[in-house]
Amino acid sequence: MEPDDTAGRRDFLKGMIVLPALSGVAEETAAQAAPPSALFNAIQMGPHTMLDEGIGRCLDLIQETAGINVLMVYSHTYHGDLRKPPQFLATDHGVPPRAMRNRKLPSVWVRQHDQYFRNTPLRHQRVDRSFEYADRDLFAELAEPARKRGMKLYARILEGSGREVAQSVQGFSQVVTRDINGRPTTVACWNHPDYRAWWDATVEDLFRSYDLDGFQWGAERMGPLMNVILPWNDGAPTCFCEHCVARGRAKGIDPEHARKGFEELYLYVRGLMAGRLKPADGVFTGFLRVLLHYPEILAWEYQYRLSREEVMQGMYRTVKGIQPAAQVGWHVDHQPSSWDLVYRAEMTYAEMAPYSDFIKFIAYHDVLGPRIRYWYLARFQRSILSEISLQQSLDLYYDLFGYDKKVEPKVDDLEKAGFSPDYVYRETRRSVASAEGKTKIYPGIGFDVPWGSNHIPADPDKVYECVINAFKGGGNGIVVSREYEEMRVPNLRAVGRAIRDLG
Ligand SMILES: [Zn+2]
Repeated sequence: MEPDDTAGRRDFLKGMIVLPALSGVAEETAAQAAPPSALFNAIQMGPHTMLDEGIGRCLDLIQETAGINVLMVYSHTYHGDLRKPPQFLATDHGVPPRAMRNRKLPSVWVRQHDQYFRNTPLRHQRVDRSFEYADRDLFAELAEPARKRGMKLYARILEGSGREVAQSVQGFSQVVTRDINGRPTTVACWNHPDYRAWWDATVEDLFRSYDLDGFQWGAERMGPLMNVILPWNDGAPTCFCEHCVARGRAKGIDPEHARKGFEELYLYVRGLMAGRLKPADGVFTGFLRVLLHYPEILAWEYQYRLSREEVMQGMYRTVKGIQPAAQVGWHVDHQPSSWDLVYRAEMTYAEMAPYSDFIKFIAYHDVLGPRIRYWYLARFQRSILSEISLQQSLDLYYDLFGYDKKVEPKVDDLEKAGFSPDYVYRETRRSVASAEGKTKIYPGIGFDVPWGSNHIPADPDKVYECVINAFKGGGNGIVVSREYEEMRVPNLRAVGRAIRDLG
């Protein structure tokens, strides 16, 4: 729910403050260069951006402004459209951003080797000469310039879904989830053996073909329970494919009862959202009643999560079998990091530690404001929290998540103010405690992340504080987010200043 959240959603921000245009800053970077730091200070990069701006130039800029020492670059870009509208792109990198609309960019940015895919019929997009940059081999080209600057190189992937992915990945339509009515979707099933084998093959190819220091993988989708009560779309609950049904049965869960339970819950919430239902005992009570009648709902939800973790375990084992020193970790997107109680309840970060060298969770303070306003409060009010006001719901949220409601915005200010750097501190502290010292925690510090069709200009002083707070909260490093192409230089400099001050 990250990179594509801007294009598809139509909740526009109004009354945004617009910063004056910033220019001519690249030239002065050398004079104020941040010295190399021992602190883990990574940045998320789009592959096309580096090629557009020039690899050496781009690496110099992020090192000199932000003191970056780890590159996390997408090797595959199935998730979301890289062709962002011009207002999202930073114009102060010294190279003007290109018009993106008509470009034909590939979804695969590495050379592919069929021999690693012998255990799965799925095949990645074939990148022929009709794609821009088809002749470039970014990860091979990056190796030397990164080493020369003392930077580590991580590959990074976000899972893709939807019609376009189904079209570009051969065999994808054979591994998709089935909803409660048996209908196929355009999202892949964690329990499909061919899908699991495809991920194992993907990381095997990556680590046998390139000299990588690490890998970060994520899948921005929630479990079936949250997707009913806090819905992103109108789709019926999943997954009831043959593999999930077999798994449920093997775990002693009646698949048909689980299916019926999800059907009842789905119809209940949809009835509420359409204003058709007025439960006599109360809306929330009605929700609990379905859970009591069908405890299989929770059991199915938990198996969904365990299945997802098993996909990650497969990749972890594969990478470690090839390169034991490689750092393998996970992207925890904004919903699970900051407003999905079900995800949080399912397991601690310590439980994920045996297959996690690090966990990078999203802690984007600015954009969390509108996200909570429209993706959390508004949706819950239409489903199972219609009995309390938005302000009550927000207060409850702050209390349940351990954020300080004296510091964080009121409902009417969420859009404009965003969250405070204190949120970064508290969420980092919580995550570090959840990890029990068994895995490293890297908060993803986010700035200049768009909302709707707008760029939200970040305040460099707040960015500075967020970085300081990430370490104050016990974080083992940071990942500067969300995408380099969006990041304005004054904010990159704020990161560098904080890293320098932290010593
Ligand atoms: Zn399934």
